[in-house]
Amino acid sequence: MPAKEISPVKSARGTPFAPGSTLGIIGGGQLARMIAIAAAQYGLKTHILAPEENSPAFEVSAAFTCAPYDDEAALRSFAASVDVITYEFENIPAATADLLVGLRELHPSPTALATTQDRLVEKSFIAELGIETAAFASVPDAAALEQAINLIGLPAVLKTRRFGYDGKGQIIIRSDSDLAAARMLAEQAACILEGFIPFREEVSVVATRTLNGEFAAFDLCANEHRNHILDITRVPANVSSDTGREAISIARRIAEALDYVGTLAVEMFLVVENGVERVVVNEIAPRVHNSGHWTIEGAETSQFAQHVRAVCHWPLGSTTRIGDVEMRNLIGSDVDDWRAILAEGGACLHLYGKEDARPGRKMGHVTRVFRKSSS
Ligand code: AMP
Repeated sequence: MPAKEISPVKSARGTPFAPGSTLGIIGGGQLARMIAIAAAQYGLKTHILAPEENSPAFEVSAAFTCAPYDDEAALRSFAASVDVITYEFENIPAATADLLVGLRELHPSPTALATTQDRLVEKSFIAELGIETAAFASVPDAAALEQAINLIGLPAVLKTRRFGYDGKGQIIIRSDSDLAAARMLAEQAACILEGFIPFREEVSVVATRTLNGEFAAFDLCANEHRNHILDITRVPANVSSDTGREAISIARRIAEALDYVGTLAVEMFLVVENGVERVVVNEIAPRVHNSGHWTIEGAETSQFAQHVRAVCHWPLGSTTRIGDVEMRNLIGSDVDDWRAILAEGGACLHLYGKEDARPGRKMGHVTRVFRKSSS
């Protein structure tokens, strides 16, 4: 199909996109699905572009294009049919982002993507802001591994610079017996070696920033993983109010330095030494995040609604938490419990419409809000 001629961008940058406008979303998983649902609440239409047939977001959107992320004709025609573009995941090819940003407003920016797609670039960016990360060293190939270990010490974590998620593409090196596996990973891809952080908990800040610098964060979340996949998020995290404020101020500095527009998550380790708490930044997700799903029922505005507001240049909503909240992912066969969850008063069930409950696959989530008493 020939690419449609694209009309010029309708509004000056920063002019709000009115209800009835179309938000284009790159990626068709559950995050795009929940962005599309939030957009629909505001009378906005969505158009999803994703390569997988039966993408969970297709069935809740006004339009979808099933095409690879590097199909230039499909990207041009997609851009021509929307008013503004966002995305649900960070591994969008740079050429795709560069093409789209020339055709339509794209939020968050290609700079945010480029900074967060590569762990070495990301850690260097965070460290340059004066924010603490794990000690790190570049491991461009297996030959560089030994020198990096000498620099960082053991235990350490070797991670591929790109395309790692949910613990994939990483190895903990505790002793010499882990070296063979580490060398194999470093042979396959350029890596980064990080010092192992002895954390008490993993926490995250989910926050949103607008083009004119308005910033709103949700309360700090505590995240528990099972088999490297997020299992449970609890809010509030069990930290002092100073630590909570510090974590949010770090997320704000990161968002400002990226001139960020949209919702982002900053994943952190909570370290406690001699009774003193501090947070160490692990990574930035330039998108809505699994640890923010609780906000749909647990906060006055959800992370998805905030994202839609920001990318459409609308004012942000209130991030006030409604009570103590627990969000559990339904992974693989966990989803078989849907009847029992429905029967439980107050449990809010979300299913993503995926057919095949493969082990490790996020099929849905359930949120329980323990409301603050009004007295
Ligand atoms: P990541 O892909 O960077 O989010 O890492 C996946 C998981 O590995 C994290 O959620 C942590 O549980 C663990 N991890 C990653 N980096 C480190 C580190 N430097 N020190 C200790 N644990 C880590």
